[in-house]
Amino acid sequence: MNKKSCISVGIIVLALTSSIFAQSKKTAAVITSTQEETKRTISEKVKIADWYEFRKAAYSLSFDDGLISQYKYVAPILDKLGLKATFYIVTETLESDPDRPASWRYGYWWQFIEMCKKGHELGSHSATHPKLTTFHDGGVSKPGTLQYELNAPIQTLQEKMPDYKFITFAYPFVDYNKHVMEETAKLYVSSRGLGNGFNSKTPDEWMNIQGHGLDYGPGRTIESDNSKMTALENWITNNTIAKEGWTVYLAHDVLPFSEASTATDSWQPVSSESFEGFAQWLKSKHDSKELWIETVGNVTRYIKERDVVSINQLEATDTKLTFSITDNLPDNQFNYPITLEILIPTGWDKVIVKQKKTKKLLSVSEEKIIVNAIPDQGNIEISKVE
Ligand SMILES: [Zn+2]
Repeated sequence: MNKKSCISVGIIVLALTSSIFAQSKKTAAVITSTQEETKRTISEKVKIADWYEFRKAAYSLSFDDGLISQYKYVAPILDKLGLKATFYIVTETLESDPDRPASWRYGYWWQFIEMCKKGHELGSHSATHPKLTTFHDGGVSKPGTLQYELNAPIQTLQEKMPDYKFITFAYPFVDYNKHVMEETAKLYVSSRGLGNGFNSKTPDEWMNIQGHGLDYGPGRTIESDNSKMTALENWITNNTIAKEGWTVYLAHDVLPFSEASTATDSWQPVSSESFEGFAQWLKSKHDSKELWIETVGNVTRYIKERDVVSINQLEATDTKLTFSITDNLPDNQFNYPITLEILIPTGWDKVIVKQKKTKKLLSVSEEKIIVNAIPDQGNIEISKVE
């Protein structure tokens, strides 16, 4: 498989979103000459977006346990809409042999590898899905210990997909305490728990990313499932979007309503009909830039990069501006483009923006351009088009 397509977004590096300019506040005065330009501080010249492409808030979809219904029902809905989700797999319960029946409701490795190749994320949900707070410390290769449950999934994934790495974890049964969180932090960059569902611009605790989901009682109807989704959408509008934060949705099985409403051995199954409506709503919010729908891993990457990135101006002539963009994070894991709004001197109507091999012609709007650039992947070169 192609490493980049799976690990991160890959090739889309530079883009212009002119509509955002019109909405964003005017930045100081107009730059009138190169000399004036050089007087400005870097923070006056470059604004880093809180969320990718200046969307208002972030939302991630996550599905636990590696269930066959996620391959059958969730992935087709999301693929049709072009949305990406995180699938937290239990590495020792996924079936490796495509010719053998999978156990219980679990899926096959090949299904989740295929989903990952399409741009969905695989996260770790432990090796065997125990209650981690009941496990004792022990060797990483000793089954039945906390360290084994955190380490073994990484080893298994290494065998199945040598070019792919987990960046994020989800606690089985959302059962965790301080010690579990500390041990998880040694191997993963972020971990999802359960709570009020709201994370601020930078999460308070990376090992306790707040997730939320829906509970279904008896007497379900298609209408009651749909109204639960509508209530969830309202919650997202009034919390995630209004407070410009990040929320992670959490679900398990997603099944056609006739199965979801009658299944007795499935945890809070969501009906695929109501989920499809919810996914369409998310897609509309993504398109209107109120929400940024991205995997847990890529939102993690974005926040980590955005919070430490260093941008410096290296050159400012009458026809060219050059900026460096660097961070101190490992480049093989932190390779997501971050969005910048860059002030452009007056009279520059069009520019060519280059970072390494990526080159884009952009129109300048209100003396600004919006650029997506990856830290540590070369300087950003902006040339005036005469
Ligand atoms: Zn689980």
